Amino acid sequence: MSFEPLISDFYGYENALTDQEKDLIVKLRDYLEREIRPVANDLWTKAEFFDRKVVTDLAELGLFGQPWKETQQFENSAVFRGWVALELARVDASVATLVGMQNGLVMGSIAVAGSQEQREQWLPRFASGELLGAFGLTEPLSGSDTAQGLQTVARRDGDNWIINGAKRWIGNGSISDVTIVWARDADDNQVKGFIVPTSTPGYSAKRIENKQALRIVQNADITFTEMVVPEANRLQGSKSFRETAAVLRLTRAEVAWAAVGNSIGAYEAAVKYAGERIQFGKPIGHHQLIQELLAKSLGNITSSIGLVTRVSEMLDQGLQRDEHSALAKEFTTSRMRETVAWCRELLGGNGIVLDYGVMKHFADAEAIYSYEGTREMNTLIVGRAITGKAAFV
Ligand SMILES: Cc1cc2nc3c(=O)[nH]c(=O)nc-3n(C[C@H](O)[C@H](O)[C@H](O)COP(=O)(O)OP(=O)(O)OC[C@H]3O[C@@H](n4cnc5c(N)ncnc54)[C@H](O)[C@@H]3O)c2cc1C
Repeated sequence: MSFEPLISDFYGYENALTDQEKDLIVKLRDYLEREIRPVANDLWTKAEFFDRKVVTDLAELGLFGQPWKETQQFENSAVFRGWVALELARVDASVATLVGMQNGLVMGSIAVAGSQEQREQWLPRFASGELLGAFGLTEPLSGSDTAQGLQTVARRDGDNWIINGAKRWIGNGSISDVTIVWARDADDNQVKGFIVPTSTPGYSAKRIENKQALRIVQNADITFTEMVVPEANRLQGSKSFRETAAVLRLTRAEVAWAAVGNSIGAYEAAVKYAGERIQFGKPIGHHQLIQELLAKSLGNITSSIGLVTRVSEMLDQGLQRDEHSALAKEFTTSRMRETVAWCRELLGGNGIVLDYGVMKHFADAEAIYSYEGTREMNTLIVGRAITGKAAFV
């Protein structure tokens, strides 16, 4: 199979990838069609996680660790990694979230805030899929305001830390081997990160039931009770929330790409349906108002691809700041919400049936819209950059 840009990549942006990057995209598309698309609706319905083999398959494809020199398989760009997120979410947003957590939030925390020794010790084990990770920041009483409101406490005790507190919404939290736990140092009141094997006594996780978006992702409520973590497992470069924010800045831009992929998944199903469904004696795609829904959707997708391409180029050029990735996430997730709704509308009643390919994208959009910074939080980050005034409180 050779590389072709997606038909929904109207201006052909993906053509700019290198040959090596395109080869990986071809392999990824083939894998997703064979192993993920056929099982995704069923797993989503049952709210079950993928077979663990999927984690090692994704590792073998080379999806974990491409940004970091310890685990990188070939030189690659942030734009390429964005396209990987898009291609994943185009088929299934849960698999995109899985890669985003392992590769971005978990490995990213260790790469950004770990010592060189910690990078060498841990990154290859996540890259190979031997370890499945989770990222524990959000708490029951602290979501958007984690920088100020984080209540999980880490108390230094000789060569150890004693951690007490609770986390909510943690993706993979009940099935991970290792969770990155963010806690407030009781001495200096600063937020610090810890690499916590989930077998540690005092770590207890319970799956959140009845979630109606990203149902394949297993989100958990976690509690830590007198959990002892060695100082060697504290991320050695993590001194304040500044390092946590640096991780989120990286991953936020990739969530912006995944939002475009989720829109494309719904759009492609809508184009197909428009060519097949006959009303008033002709396929509905011949009706002007249906064409308008498709043209508006393609406009959202195309403008979003342009924006995420530039924000990832800025990362490669060392120019990307918090407000840049915040604007990308705010913009593409808002456009995604419009697009999946238009595509759902286009299918009429069948729009709400999983089998027709839009409903999963429609429901999953709601989770992508809120995680890694809600629209309001990202708007306030951009507003602060515009005016110089923080309006969070
Ligand atoms: C499916 C899913 C997966 C997730 N995975 C993870 C994970 O792996 N790890 C992790 O740590 N977290 C995870 N999260 C948590 C996610 O990051 C939070 O849900 C998100 O940050 C919002 O926090 P909250 O849900 O507590 O909402 P809240 O912070 O309670 O916000 C509620 C509403 O109030 C608005 N709001 C809050 N403050 C202001 C303000 N100052 N001005 C205007 N509006 C405001 C918000 O924008 C939002 O609309 C996940 C969430 C979901 C839904």
